[in-house]
Amino acid sequence: MRQQIAAANWKMNLTLSEGEQLVKALVHAGIVLKKHQRVLMGVPFPYLVPLQAAVQRVEGFDLMAQNCAATNNGAYTGEVSATMLKSLGIQWTIIGHSERREYQLEGNAVLAQKADRLLENGLKPVFCCGEPLQIREANTHNGYVETQIRESLFHLDEKAMSHVVIAYEPIWAIGTGKTASTEQAQEMHRYIRSVLEKQYGTTLADTIPVLYGGSVKANNASELFGQPDVDGGLVGGASLVADDFTAIIRSLKA
Ligand code: PEP
Repeated sequence: MRQQIAAANWKMNLTLSEGEQLVKALVHAGIVLKKHQRVLMGVPFPYLVPLQAAVQRVEGFDLMAQNCAATNNGAYTGEVSATMLKSLGIQWTIIGHSERREYQLEGNAVLAQKADRLLENGLKPVFCCGEPLQIREANTHNGYVETQIRESLFHLDEKAMSHVVIAYEPIWAIGTGKTASTEQAQEMHRYIRSVLEKQYGTTLADTIPVLYGGSVKANNASELFGQPDVDGGLVGGASLVADDFTAIIRSLKA
């Protein structure tokens, strides 16, 4: 089975001590992951080191950064590079979250550079894509998401691509409480896989996890994650509540 992933995105929430409490609760929840299951904790940069030991106490749990710079080093005040993350032992990083696309104006080209920096440093990108409401309403969402993936990832060779995780996050569903229906999610995930198949062949396309993100909650995760092409989720709000995120982790395909 493809890797099934429950990924938390804390965004810019929680103090360090609140984060420590949350991780402690998850560690003590008695979660035992199967070999193909993984939990990624996307925490703010300053918490990566203080939380590392606690998160890694559970087999299959790992930390994840929420962004990285497009360059490895230099005069870029306030940026954090893939090289720096590697030096901390971080192996996963979100790139292209819709909030960064909107507020930091990150486009497909700069995300291609970020993917390169991560992969050349041995980190795995969790690449976010997804359409705004007006694109969904115009029924042009397939082409929109395909372009995001094509322009940011399709310069990668097969080996590099095999380390990528894709997170489909329709913007109209993020933080809104409005989840895509299971049919909408499965349809888009199937489409993304068909785009990957055309570019890289069925064997590789079959191994790339495609996560769903957008108001995943404890009460809808099982149905969403049960879809054949949905390989888990990227979870914002519900990842801040230990019981909710625990239930979401337990909803991964067994
Ligand atoms: C996200 O942060 O990527 C996200 C999907 O948020 P939420 O689960 O709160 O919609």
